[in-house]
Amino acid sequence: MAKYTGPSCRLCRREGEKLYLKGDRCYNISKDGTNKPLCPFDKTDKKVTPPGPAHAGRRKVSGYQQQLREKQKTKRIYGILEKQFRMYYTKAERMKGVTGENMLILIERRLDNVVFQMGIAASRAQARQLVCHGHIAVNGKKVDIPSYLVKVGDVITVKAEKADNAFFTALKESAVRANMPKWVNFDKATLKGEVLAFPTREDIDPRIKEHMIVELYSK
Ligand code: SF4
Repeated sequence: MAKYTGPSCRLCRREGEKLYLKGDRCYNISKDGTNKPLCPFDKTDKKVTPPGPAHAGRRKVSGYQQQLREKQKTKRIYGILEKQFRMYYTKAERMKGVTGENMLILIERRLDNVVFQMGIAASRAQARQLVCHGHIAVNGKKVDIPSYLVKVGDVITVKAEKADNAFFTALKESAVRANMPKWVNFDKATLKGEVLAFPTREDIDPRIKEHMIVELYSK
């Protein structure tokens, strides 16, 4: 599948806010232990501007543009391209309940997102790579499809033959993810986690205005 291979920070600059696409760097955690800001949004000496040529003066943003930006932002946070993102909307529309919430809950249940939420990976992009490279098993079976939707009770583990590599050895010694959502758990010592419940809207990024995405797609 095609994927965006350009600079991640450019996407944040386009949306005008931090999307946390690069893991530690987004939290200003540097490898050398220095505390200097690494994210352009946290640097005080330079203003963050949208990519592309500078526009003269301020332009009024239309309702459509706002809806479009909200959709693009959400796609970028989760690293999903248009066709698949729209598929989640179509699926959510057929479900009972609020379409926007259903759509976000479906996206949140993706295996790559679950691997990120459990703290196995520092970013969703890294989680996607771990899944694609066959490091992750669901209920004992290797699953290398990032869009795989987890169910309640699914047990997520690191494949036994991969567990001794440098990445997972470092993970075992690292601290437990501070803000792990309550619908999942993960034990770093055994590299084993479980999906305890389906996520609810409260568990999902409050910055996303899903009603705008629904308004855009239902036009
Ligand atoms: Fe976005 Fe900042 Fe992370 Fe770059 S470092 S991806 S601008 S949050």
